[in-house]
Amino acid sequence: MTSSDELRLRREKEAKRIRASLNRQRGIQHASLKGGESAVAFVKEQLCIGCDQCTIVCDDDAIEVYKVAMRSPLIQVETNQKAKIVRQDCTGCRLCVLACPTDAISMIDR
Ligand code: SF4
Ligand code: SF4
Repeated sequence: MTSSDELRLRREKEAKRIRASLNRQRGIQHASLKGGESAVAFVKEQLCIGCDQCTIVCDDDAIEVYKVAMRSPLIQVETNQKAKIVRQDCTGCRLCVLACPTDAISMIDR
């Protein structure tokens, strides 16, 4: 029978393998994205779930969140939040694109 220590070690090994695989994919994605001075990030509002991941990774304070009303009357929350890019502060580093879980951010020509 598998002991809890063996199970924990197996889980840690598997977590490392998954993390390495995701990092590899992010590296490939990063290289394929438009970036730098000629590009700026853009948020598609409909896809943004207001999770704040992009604001955490942006070192340039180029992302702000703003409140919007909930669209569904079934959910009893007064406001929801969305992210928007402060264009003049965006350096085109692409980190927010990689961090967004819903693919709401893309890089566009400046
Ligand atoms: S591309 Fe970089 S600088 Fe621009 S908003 Fe995203 S994380 Fe911030
Ligand atoms: S990471 Fe994506 S979904 Fe989350 S707040 Fe930023 S743009 Fe919206």
